[in-house]
Amino acid sequence: MKEYLCSNVKNVKVLVFDFDETLYYSPDVREYYIKYIKSTILNLSSLTEMETDSLMKEVGFTMENKASPSFSSSCGRFGIQKRAWDNYRIDNFFQINYKNAESIDNNILRKLSMHYPMYVVTNEVYKNILIKAERLGIDLSIFKKLLAPSAEALLSGNAKTKKELYQDIIEGEHVMSNQVLVIGDRIKVDVEPMLELGGNGLVVTRPKEIEEFAVNYLL
Ligand SMILES: [Mg+2]
Repeated sequence: MKEYLCSNVKNVKVLVFDFDETLYYSPDVREYYIKYIKSTILNLSSLTEMETDSLMKEVGFTMENKASPSFSSSCGRFGIQKRAWDNYRIDNFFQINYKNAESIDNNILRKLSMHYPMYVVTNEVYKNILIKAERLGIDLSIFKKLLAPSAEALLSGNAKTKKELYQDIIEGEHVMSNQVLVIGDRIKVDVEPMLELGGNGLVVTRPKEIEEFAVNYLL
């Protein structure tokens, strides 16, 4: 599924990318994610395994529901404070089976970067993105900047929201919000904050869709 939320692609001057499950795809990502959320809950809450299974189902963390909520916004349902989750995820971060993963084509990214300043904006910890990018073969040097919270910012509760980071980019690039396009895998987390600012968004499920979109509309 590709959802196109860009009013006029010719206006676009700046590109913003989410990282996780946007710049790469893995066929078993869902299975790994569900296992990861479950072990997180068992580690951080006082719920039993049975209670965890049934509550995960209720909140939407199932194999079938690919639009499950972000754990940051739903950890309270499991009796876990966001602070405890942020603390935990610095060192226990979500990883996939990198061998099966499809990563974005660096050559297409390079071509795009000749026409557009490009940013990665993510809620994942900065150092963890560096580790994942290396394992996935994604060349982060192509991007103008990687905007990701430091472990210290997370621990002190000072990490900026995606919306604040998008606003910083709009101001820093001296563009209008409708000249910025964000590409991500989650409407709520990645795209809606940009739409609220008056910008554009594209929802993708595979890096191949970004490559096609780039070739057909951006290059
Ligand atoms: Mg993502």
